[in-house]
Amino acid sequence: MVIVSEYTSSAESEQLLAEFETIPLAELLERAKDQRRERHETSISYSRKVFIPLTHLCRDVCGYCTFAKAPREVAQPFLPPEQVLASARERRHVRQAGAL
Ligand code: SF4
Repeated sequence: MVIVSEYTSSAESEQLLAEFETIPLAELLERAKDQRRERHETSISYSRKVFIPLTHLCRDVCGYCTFAKAPREVAQPFLPPEQVLASARERRHVRQAGAL
């Protein structure tokens, strides 16, 4: 079994990538499925934290992002503290581990 992680060197990554490119897609998908089952079985995880965005402004410009807004697109740059509290209170019935 091959496990690629953040500890895999770039040389190892390149070697693995070259190897993967020779494997038919169906086989590669099957291998990936086997690894997923081996490591995580059929578990699906999620975070119980509630996300309260304090701002939609961001210095980065990731092309795929649908969250960040340009300053001209927002009525106010930051969520006022009263709205943060109201948002937290609205969601208190949800079984949550915390707020982000
Ligand atoms: S994904 Fe969106 S919010 Fe995240 S860093 Fe990129 S632009 Fe910013």
